[in-house]
Amino acid sequence: MTTASSPCDAHGILVQCRPGFEADASLELQAAASAARLDGSTDTQPGSGFVVFELTTPAPHDDIRRRLDLTRLIFSRQGFRILAVVDELPERDRLTPLRDAIAATGERFSAALLETPDTNDGKAQSGFLRRFGPLLEGVLTDDGRLRPDSPHLPRLHVFLEGPRRAWLGVSHASEGSSWPMGIPRLRMPKDAPSRSTLKLAEAFMTLLTPDEQKSTLRPGLTAVDLGAAPGGWSWQLTSRGLRVTAIDNGPLASALLATGLVEHLRADGFTWKPKKPVDWLVCDMVEQPSRIAPLIADWLATGRCRRSIFNLKLPMKRRHDEVERCRGLIEQRLAAAGIKYVLRIKHLYHDREEVTCYLARR
Ligand code: SAM
Repeated sequence: MTTASSPCDAHGILVQCRPGFEADASLELQAAASAARLDGSTDTQPGSGFVVFELTTPAPHDDIRRRLDLTRLIFSRQGFRILAVVDELPERDRLTPLRDAIAATGERFSAALLETPDTNDGKAQSGFLRRFGPLLEGVLTDDGRLRPDSPHLPRLHVFLEGPRRAWLGVSHASEGSSWPMGIPRLRMPKDAPSRSTLKLAEAFMTLLTPDEQKSTLRPGLTAVDLGAAPGGWSWQLTSRGLRVTAIDNGPLASALLATGLVEHLRADGFTWKPKKPVDWLVCDMVEQPSRIAPLIADWLATGRCRRSIFNLKLPMKRRHDEVERCRGLIEQRLAAAGIKYVLRIKHLYHDREEVTCYLARR
């Protein structure tokens, strides 16, 4: 058994993804592991909603953390370093073997996240998790393993692959989502014009730090929304007091126009340009990613906007390659203009065949 002062070895990394995206998550994880000089191999079951990278030689989880930055993984909604796998959980008492296995790690934790794959089988366990979560937290608190007042400690992940098998692992709050399974529970605002509004809400929370949200999403700032109709993204911006120029040949919801904060222009998002620079460019046009990426990079390079959130609609296959190709196109344009930038890309819970990107001048 290891002690708290010598962090427990990790056997690998587990990332959770949207079912159907395992191949992309696996390619990406393998590439990140190889860049971090971690030897091992991935195990991928199509449709499972998760991917495991197994290390050839287990290593202290802190070392792996230093070498591989989980936040950079696009297709991972949530990830952790694997400490143990508990098999053959008896249906009548899953608490005792899990409690023992958690004690055997010798670790202490700031929080416990109970998770399942985002599949139908996983969802079938949600009722059990709701009852089981407080029980597990209770015994971990009694055992001195759970210390919510010590946020520097890692979080414990208990990932129930099925009713009989659990993966135990660790991550730090800064490395992953604060929502179990990386799934935000966002309520659809009743007056928002479309469900896509939730995508931009999630993007703000996931791709911007709390400080960035505060300083860049406030009344008085300006935005352009390319491909705005019927207005779900514009709604997110106006609800924070920004003034929006909405570009789309289609109609905008009348409630949005009634805010007085939106100017609707029927124009082509690829050729229209603002008279004055704006703070934000958002773009949800359904177009080839290799057309969108250079368009956004050009807005930033020429100073038409300071920052942008945009979607890249992906092909059905080789999505990871396509995202990397777009990353290259952005780098090419901004490097040529001598501009330093940040680019964060994530396959959000509300994204389907697309990823959402945040691009900003440094
Ligand atoms: N973000 C919107 C919302 O939250 O309601 C949904 C946008 S919808 C997915 C894509 C929109 O892009 C369509 O309304 C379409 O008319 C618009 N669009 C596609 N190509 C465009 C172009 N070249 N110029 C302007 N709008 C375009």
